[in-house]
Order: sequence, then structure tokens, then C-alpha cells
Amino acid sequence: MPDWNALADAALTGAAPTREEALAVLTAPETELLALLDAAFRVRRAAHGLDVRLHVLQNAKLGACPEDCGFCSQSARHDTGLGREKLQSADEIVAGARRAAEMGAVKYCIVTATRGPSERDLDVICEAVTRIKAEHPINICTSLGLLREGQAERLKAAGVSRFNHNLETSERYFGEVVGSHAWADRVGTIRRAHAAGLEACCGGIYGMGESLDDRLDLAFALRELEVESIPVNFLDPRPGTPMGELERMTPTECLKALAMMRFVNPTRDIRIAGGREVNLRDLQVLALYPANSLFVDGYLTTPGAGYEHDLQMIRDAGFTVAEVVAT
Ligand code: SF4
Repeated sequence: MPDWNALADAALTGAAPTREEALAVLTAPETELLALLDAAFRVRRAAHGLDVRLHVLQNAKLGACPEDCGFCSQSARHDTGLGREKLQSADEIVAGARRAAEMGAVKYCIVTATRGPSERDLDVICEAVTRIKAEHPINICTSLGLLREGQAERLKAAGVSRFNHNLETSERYFGEVVGSHAWADRVGTIRRAHAAGLEACCGGIYGMGESLDDRLDLAFALRELEVESIPVNFLDPRPGTPMGELERMTPTECLKALAMMRFVNPTRDIRIAGGREVNLRDLQVLALYPANSLFVDGYLTTPGAGYEHDLQMIRDAGFTVAEVVAT
């Protein structure tokens, strides 16, 4: 078993662990958990102090997505009974940003269930973003599917600072999860975002039946892409999806995955994302030691623990809510 503190020392110089060391994190015995989290916390603290960055999601277009992602209740190809709604108006998107600002969120994340945005969708979203930026210092991330040429530049010009598009899993396992587009398409969108001067928010979902090697591959692929922000979701199996019957991960599996992600991506913004409450259960607060960010106020189609609960958890553990610095 590696010396966790030696792993942390290496991460603090920016060095990545070897694959064997990263695998040892995922397979560490439960008796090592606190020592492992303590080492990951040293790395997290060097980059982010005790700050927890709050992000708020806005599902600006629900359901009816033509893509077939096996975990997603918003795919029109799965019988999930979720319903569908058209793109929200600019007024509705701006109203969501006001709520997020009141909660002290550093980032307002506008998400649409689409393969990619139409130019008309972008008209509405860009208008909303420009209005939000005129009212609040809050930073804006958009998650609109695959980007075509010129679209990232439009978002950047409107005031968006970051674009989200998750790799979801390893390149090898991706075909088991998604058939309607390729892993390389997703990498292409991240590259377009970076080329336009946007930060990239790019992570994935653990617990979709992937191997430990797939978990490592995702973490190392994100390091290679130099993404600024990494949302780590844990599958919350949605009824009616092809993954609806999978078992959830255990809390300690989740914590080890987050610690591994921290060692591989030492300075990045690592966010505990969807599935936090139902996978981590009573160990949720321990996830703040490797990770430095979380979504508050629910997810795209499921509720979370609630803003007040999350705030209390952060404060009870001695962490602080990060302040907004406009970018
Ligand atoms: S592209 Fe996004 S919204 Fe559409 S099915 Fe996949 S994950 Fe769901």
C-alpha cells in the first residue's frame, strides 16, 4: 500500500500518481479511509483552503432529448415519465440567477437537455446571460450539449465563463453508456470551449457498471484535457432508464473515488455532484475533504438535501462558503 502522505506530497508539486498508486486509493481498505482522506485534504486545502464553492443548477429545457445516454431520465428514448418542457424564456432564466445569487452561489449553471443548441436557443440563452451579468457578479456556466463551430465564441461574448460537457466515463466504456454520439465528440466540444477562451467543466458519473480501470481512465483523461472543473456524479439509478436497476455505490467507494480524483487532479475544482445524498448517505460531509465544491438546491431532475441543510453541513464541519469572484 502506498504512503498516502507521500502521494499528497507528490500531488502538491503537481505530479500525478502512477496508475498503480491511483488504483491503490480505490482499493484501500476501509481502515485506511481517514488517513486517505486526511492526505487528500492536504492537497485540497493547498489549492482551495477551507472554501466550498456553491453551484446552482437551472434546468432550462427539460426532457425530450434525442440522445440515448443510458443513465439519463431526460432521454426521449427511455420511458421515464419525466415529461418535457420547451426552452425557458430569458425572463425565467434570469429569475433563476437571482435565486442563485441570493444563495451565495459562485456559479449559475444553465442546462438544457439537447444534443446541442440551435442558434435560436443560443439567442435566448445569450440574452439571458447578458442580462444576468449586468445585474449580478455571479459567474455563468452553460451545459448545452455538443457545440458546433462558432457557438462557444457566441457564449463567451455574451458573458459565459465556463462550459460544461462531461466525458461521463472512460473512452473504453463509453459505448456501453451512450450509442448516439461518441466519446471523441465530447472531447471535441471541450476543446472548442477551451479554444474560445471558456473554462471547461467536465467530469463524469461513477457507478454505471464500469471497472476500476475505467474510473482511473476518466480521472487521467480529465487531467490530460486540463479541465478547470470536475463534477463527480454517483449514479442515482433512474426508473425507466437502462441503468434503472443498478445498485448504488457504497459511501466509502464514493469517498475513495473522490480522493483518487483529487490526487490525479490536485488543483482542480472538484465538485460532488448528482447522487451525493443517496450514495454517500451519512458520510456526505467527509466528501468535503477531497472535494471543494457542491451543487446546492437540487439537481436537474431530482431534489437534493436542500440549501439550508447543505449550508449547515458546511459550517458544522468548519468549512466556509466561497465568495463570488467575477470572472
Ligand atoms: S445528451 Fe444530456 S440530456 Fe440528452 S440524454 Fe444525454 S445526458 Fe441526457
